[in-house]
Amino acid sequence: MDKQQDFVLRTIEERGVKFVRLWFTDVIGTLKSVAIAPAEVEGAFREGIGFDGSAIEGLTRVQESDLLAHPDPSTFQILPWRGEVDPTARMFCDLTTPDGQPAVADPRNVLKRTLSRAAEAGFTFYTHPEIEFYLFKHGAGSGRPEPVDHAGYFDNVPGGTAHDFRRRAVRMLEELGISVEYSHHEGGPGQNEIDLRYADALTMADNLMTFRTVVKEVAIEQGVHATFMPKPLADQPGSGMHTHMSLFEGDANAFYDASAPHQLSVTGRRFIAGLLRHSSEISLVLNQFVNSYKRLWGGDEAPSYITWGHSNRSALVRVPMYKPGKSQSARIEHRGIDSAANPYLAYALMLSAGLKGIEEEYELPEAAEENVWALSASERRALGYRALPSSLEEAIELMESSDLVADTLGEQVFRYVLANKRREFEQYRSQVTDLELKTTFDVV
Ligand code: GLU
Ligand code: MG
Ligand code: MG
Repeated sequence: MDKQQDFVLRTIEERGVKFVRLWFTDVIGTLKSVAIAPAEVEGAFREGIGFDGSAIEGLTRVQESDLLAHPDPSTFQILPWRGEVDPTARMFCDLTTPDGQPAVADPRNVLKRTLSRAAEAGFTFYTHPEIEFYLFKHGAGSGRPEPVDHAGYFDNVPGGTAHDFRRRAVRMLEELGISVEYSHHEGGPGQNEIDLRYADALTMADNLMTFRTVVKEVAIEQGVHATFMPKPLADQPGSGMHTHMSLFEGDANAFYDASAPHQLSVTGRRFIAGLLRHSSEISLVLNQFVNSYKRLWGGDEAPSYITWGHSNRSALVRVPMYKPGKSQSARIEHRGIDSAANPYLAYALMLSAGLKGIEEEYELPEAAEENVWALSASERRALGYRALPSSLEEAIELMESSDLVADTLGEQVFRYVLANKRREFEQYRSQVTDLELKTTFDVV
């Protein structure tokens, strides 16, 4: 029994915890949970808890369906929304096969593997996401979605639902050990944003899974409906999950160089070059739903072209200006990823693309300082600005031939994502929409 495990057992005892939820994530990014009695926790640390992995999206093939969940004691937290009486706690788990091998399809393991690759090169990977989401009066099952307010960017809405909502959610997150940096109303009616303080990418991916649960729980408590759907309203901004990233070598920020233009180091330039060069093939994971492409191509500050810049909000990757001397905060912001991505797989691919740029010493193209949306197609072509995939179908095709994605995700996850997304696209294509009826029915 190590120190952390010991601490967990003592806390369970002292706080009178009655249920311990073991959490893990499927390939699509859905949180899974199994509750065990406190008396089982010691055994779970020793041997893991067995379950049938074939019942869970993408986790195993049926013939090797037994998996074990091993709780990670460093993620032990008491769930604030379950109340003080008979408290419930949770731990994230690593999944293995019965003979102790990491489960190849465990998204947490995919990220851990990629982080070890970075560690071999001497890097620690930090991220901080800005998560956008919408609050509606009710779920989509009860008619057209109606936002809870009609406010906009940074609006202060006295007595408004969103204000109380954010207050409650932020307090709960803090109780769970997740620090919040900013929270505000976003551009769309009922749209909000909460920005988490940076952490290493594994902690952050766990934090994001917790974040989504907290937001859903608070919504239920307040009688509203929260969604991370990338583009719930056709004529309003979508919900992105801009992610700020940095690599550290020991205590030094590897993206910072005091003498370089914009203090962006050669490592930083190569990392961005990797992100840009591989952005089309990783798009299926960063923007994983049919609906994701409606955000990317729907305007309202979502990026459609593969460019980078400094204060350019039409760019896919942005290098924010740092305060002079603040080397620790040197970072780059990815504006493509949306709020519905599986954070473990998306962060693994973003890191992998950036590392590839460093390993292969990719050359960074010129920064785009103009508004890329305002250019004509031929101007964009002349400047070499390629487009992101315009649909799920295109994203599938681009990922199919990617060695980088296959190597990073591993064969099983790679195949599973492709098969799952092909199915989603087929289902979408087989629909006859209201729009088609409106534009075609009476016309032909
Ligand atoms: N909602 C926008 C998006 O879809 C981002 C707005 C912003 O700059 O925060 O990415
Ligand atoms: Mg925002
Ligand atoms: Mg941003």
